Amino acid sequence: MADQSVQIHGKNFVPYLSETEIKEKIKEMATIISRDYADKKPLFIAILNGAFMFASDLFKELTIEAEISFIKLASYSGTKSTGKVLTAIGLDADINGRHVVIIEDIVDTGKTLSSFLPQLEHQGPASIKLAALLTKPEAKTHPIDINYLCFSIPNKFVVGYGLDYDGLGRNLKEIYQLG
Ligand code: 5GP
Repeated sequence: MADQSVQIHGKNFVPYLSETEIKEKIKEMATIISRDYADKKPLFIAILNGAFMFASDLFKELTIEAEISFIKLASYSGTKSTGKVLTAIGLDADINGRHVVIIEDIVDTGKTLSSFLPQLEHQGPASIKLAALLTKPEAKTHPIDINYLCFSIPNKFVVGYGLDYDGLGRNLKEIYQLG
């Protein structure tokens, strides 16, 4: 475990989850997913930017036939009555009839996925499950089922391992917590 805190944009972050802890949890998750999806040829959909590192490490550990695609979620203001609308950019795969596993870095309030998952349901997948690296149960305002989870964490801002603080910190191998 790195014993040094890091400074990002003038804020202090302290080591929270080590590279070894993260890798071990991901390996366990990959073993379970590989068992659950044997012969189902699942399609993994990783949500950019934050999930890129988690998606890469998880995907490498799978021992089954599987595909992966990457999307970005963009929100734009709809009319006053509809408020913010979320759209997926880059979903080129046809998910109709497919077993889909969403790969997300962190489920915080659950708002993002509670708006996006129903949109995917409309496209007729055989199933949709969610694999998340982190969740903050205390922050949850929208109920979301996380089917595969590495860590439940306290309601503190984290960076590293793909997660950023205002653009920086994604390259850190460990996860750091705001000190
Ligand atoms: P939600 O819609 O669940 O509230 O938010 C999900 C998104 O918020 C995540 O995909 C992530 O991009 C961002 N987010 C939430 N908490 C954190 C955090 O502690 N650190 C970072 N870097 N991003 C976070």
